[in-house]
Amino acid sequence: MYAFLEEFLSTFFPRLCPLCRKVILDEREGFCVDCLEGFQVIREPVCSSCGYPLEGKTESEGSFCPGCISRNTPLPDLYTVRSIALYAGNVRHAILAVKYGRQAPVAHSLSIFARDHFTRFFPPGGFDRLVPVPLHPKRLRAREFNQCVLLARPLASRLGIPLDVDAVERVRHTLPQSASTEKARRKNLKGAFRVRKVPRIEGQSILVFDDVYTTGATLEALAHCLLSAGASRVAALTVARSPGPDIS
Ligand SMILES: [Zn+2]
Ligand SMILES: [Zn+2]
Repeated sequence: MYAFLEEFLSTFFPRLCPLCRKVILDEREGFCVDCLEGFQVIREPVCSSCGYPLEGKTESEGSFCPGCISRNTPLPDLYTVRSIALYAGNVRHAILAVKYGRQAPVAHSLSIFARDHFTRFFPPGGFDRLVPVPLHPKRLRAREFNQCVLLARPLASRLGIPLDVDAVERVRHTLPQSASTEKARRKNLKGAFRVRKVPRIEGQSILVFDDVYTTGATLEALAHCLLSAGASRVAALTVARSPGPDIS
């Protein structure tokens, strides 16, 4: 539907870049050329597990990042994460515009960007559901909207993957960040999410979606929850990733 509407509208109105208001010359893109140049896209090779960029290694060396190597509990085999760009520059501006400005045109442009890069990581038709990271109801009430859903909705439509916003709920308000040991932190994370509609998850291949990957702890907790509810596979896609090393 979006594609049809866009084609129809672009016949009459040139599309403007939602970040800088310049005309978008390439109609397939969501942002103008100048803004896209400021997106620091993460290229292969990346960590096979968490998607962290592995600079200086060749793709054939395919391996794990220092964070994943030093983990006491490796990520589950059925779970992989991929992030599209570093959380810096224009990507950061765009994400903040969605998060704090609720700017739907920016969300639509980011969904075009995310769709184009999705195919670098995942085969088409590989997922049964797209699940955006849910907010706790208290936070949702305070913020009035979930910025992750604002991004996930047009993305799911562009990818042709059914969006599922209520199969999983967040039952803990905040994830404890300061637990002293890795073991304690992981124990605390258990139970942060709950699957409300098990039949929608059981046996399904799930793509979890978030705007920014920071420590990976939230996504990991959600992945564990989905896998224990019987998901056949869970992968996570995030638009951006904090540039610092991940040691979570
Ligand atoms: Zn622009
Ligand atoms: Zn890694």
